[in-house]
Amino acid sequence: MRVAVSACLLGAACKYNGGDNLNEDLVRALDGHEVIPVCPEQLGGLPTPRLCSEIRDGEVVNDRGESVDAAFRAGALRAWELMKDAGGCDVAVLQPRSPSCGVGLVYDGSFSGTLVAGDGVFVQLLHAHDVPVCTQDQFLGIYGQ
Ligand code: SF4
Repeated sequence: MRVAVSACLLGAACKYNGGDNLNEDLVRALDGHEVIPVCPEQLGGLPTPRLCSEIRDGEVVNDRGESVDAAFRAGALRAWELMKDAGGCDVAVLQPRSPSCGVGLVYDGSFSGTLVAGDGVFVQLLHAHDVPVCTQDQFLGIYGQ
């Protein structure tokens, strides 16, 4: 399979706080698959580290209340273009709760740690193009050892 993966899950230090979300079980489960690492926020030109951002009323804003929606959506588009250039992907495995990569649950824009049903802007784009998406736990539930 060709699998797009949130780059932070593979150990890239691209999180907003300069850290990563390395998941060694996921790295092992991806062995033998073609992996396309993507970080939509870096691809959108955002720096690392960067301010924490959430989706508020459909718009991505940072914790100073500034709109960063255009950069997030440009990065999502760039990540999708990279996936297409690679020949398309069978599935995207994505970091939960992120305003870009979150699948099914995201923070509500109040910066209070409150989760609501919804998808990150990259996931919204992938849904629009009928690309299957899942979290690392969902992927590991099927392909993990
Ligand atoms: S945009 Fe996605 S890949 Fe990049 S740090 Fe956030 S969750 Fe990870």
